[in-house]
Amino acid sequence: GTNFILEVAAVAPDARHTMIVTRDVTEGRRLEEVRRDFVANVSHELRTPLTVISGFLDLEKDDDGANREVLAYHRSLMREQTKRMRMLLDDLLTLSRLENEDEGSTDEPDVVAMPKLVEDVVREGKALSMGKHDFLVEIEDVSLVGFADELRSAAMNLVSNAVRYTPEGGSITVRWGRYGTGSCFSVTDTGIGIDAKHIPRLTERFYRVDKGRSRATGGTGLGLAIVKHILRHNGGTLAIESTPGKGSTFSMRFPEARTFSKF
Ligand code: ADP
Repeated sequence: GTNFILEVAAVAPDARHTMIVTRDVTEGRRLEEVRRDFVANVSHELRTPLTVISGFLDLEKDDDGANREVLAYHRSLMREQTKRMRMLLDDLLTLSRLENEDEGSTDEPDVVAMPKLVEDVVREGKALSMGKHDFLVEIEDVSLVGFADELRSAAMNLVSNAVRYTPEGGSITVRWGRYGTGSCFSVTDTGIGIDAKHIPRLTERFYRVDKGRSRATGGTGLGLAIVKHILRHNGGTLAIESTPGKGSTFSMRFPEARTFSKF
């Protein structure tokens, strides 16, 4: 297995506006601790929905007289918890697949038509938002060498976070194009923002600024950990800029060697 600790590579001088470029630093002495925390977290995350489901099942067993509406309500809550467990297991499988790829996969990357991929992701983001946010989209005709399914999933994670952490009426800007001699996919939201002290830890598995909000909006706490692994497998880096109460920008940057653009 592989575990990574983020190293702060750059912090903007203005303390209210934080920008951190993540870099993976493996640190042997923390590995065991990280592994223990991970098992404890997974157990806890699975236990919570199971407790709810078994609680309602017991309730129904003991209460023959319960009316139809109450039973239907209980069932809808159980369905919701089942969905939570499925999402968590899907994300765990994705993470473990990505870790196996780290250990030497033979798959070769392809040239990915990013404009189409980004358009698809924006369409899905709009569906998630259900009209609650304005979307602004800027796409340049630039392609990328990488793994299309992974890039789509990483981009979708960032867009769905923007939707989930931006109140109704806010705006979400999705950009894809050249960045220096390479390329960059970014999502800027006008949402709740993130306090500087949390930023270096956001890509840790199950690290959340606000557990309640993350769960309530359908988060597993694994999204950014997955994004980080995908970027490593695709030669990119993640940059996070945020101002609490104003919004955030999450950027995936790729080097020149991965970027194909027509000038
Ligand atoms: P989650 O499923 O909890 O959203 P992620 O790994 O995707 O898990 O994100 C980790 C944490 O980072 C979130 O719980 C949230 O606190 C914070 N976060 C991620 N994206 C944003 C955003 N666009 N705006 C504000 N906070 C964010």
